Amino acid sequence: MKIAILSRNAKLYSTTRLVEAAQARGHEVRVLDVLRCYMNITSHNPSIHYRGEDLVGFDAVIPRIGASVTFYGTAVLRQFEMMNVMPLNESVGISRSRDKLRSIQLLARKGIGLPVTGFANNPDDIEDLISQVGGAPLVIKLLQGTQGIGVVLAETHNAAESVIQAFMGLNANIMVQEFIKEANGSDIRCFVVGDKVVAAMRRQAAKGEFRSNLHRGGSASLIRLTPEERSTAVRAAKIMGLNVCGVDMLRSNHGPVIMEVNSSPGLRGIEETSGKDIADLIIQFIEKRFETMEMTKDKTRTRGKG
Ligand code: ADP
Repeated sequence: MKIAILSRNAKLYSTTRLVEAAQARGHEVRVLDVLRCYMNITSHNPSIHYRGEDLVGFDAVIPRIGASVTFYGTAVLRQFEMMNVMPLNESVGISRSRDKLRSIQLLARKGIGLPVTGFANNPDDIEDLISQVGGAPLVIKLLQGTQGIGVVLAETHNAAESVIQAFMGLNANIMVQEFIKEANGSDIRCFVVGDKVVAAMRRQAAKGEFRSNLHRGGSASLIRLTPEERSTAVRAAKIMGLNVCGVDMLRSNHGPVIMEVNSSPGLRGIEETSGKDIADLIIQFIEKRFETMEMTKDKTRTRGKG
């Protein structure tokens, strides 16, 4: 197969590993800087250009689109979809997952366990918002935040009130969430490929910190998932419409609760912790999916009307 990887930097661990895995399985692979792709949007002959070259002949595309380039990146990916190149994750799924609020609304609709979450716009509603999620301590999250930045633990009612007021005053979109204290600063990353959790790790926050992001100094270790956690992760991936993703959850007193579904999950932490060749599993998944999709002309599933 001829595979394109959309990534800003060919030297990133995840990108390098995907290139190695694709080549090891005999594929031709090319890393494309998504911001250098430009396109011609015509009905009959959509095309993508790259530094003056017309990109043709790709069978599949692996989007590794960072949060800061979601808008442009998903536009480029859509163009690949228009050209009938099979995406590992579809643009629609990626756009959905980048909106934290939209994601949890979709998951809630299908009965997935979530921390109790509130969303409001007017400072007059703050009191009620706080009591809706069970009062302080509570977690306040900037909808635009990633890697734990913009996630605040407000330990008292007064702190919660003033932080929410401050964010609202800056016109920042935030959601307010029940604090899952019993998680003890650890969360679980489930790495989903297709309809399976292929690896999982527990991330423990550094001392004195409640956010377990590895970027925030958290440490990773192997974990054995319960059947409920496993099936929750797979269902969440399905609901978001993502074939490959990282599903982050907390162990709460009321079962697993999902915090986020990440459409470009990093490979380093999970490969090092699990000792598994996740990149190879992803390429194998692409091969199988491509085989079944070859029979149908249209290589994306999402349908719009009108
Ligand atoms: P980001 O997308 O920025 O990583 P998350 O929503 O994943 O933001 O939150 C970052 C970290 O903060 C999580 O990995 C988890 O350890 C902790 N955390 C987030 N929400 C809660 C919560 N409701 N209760 C307890 N801890 C939380």
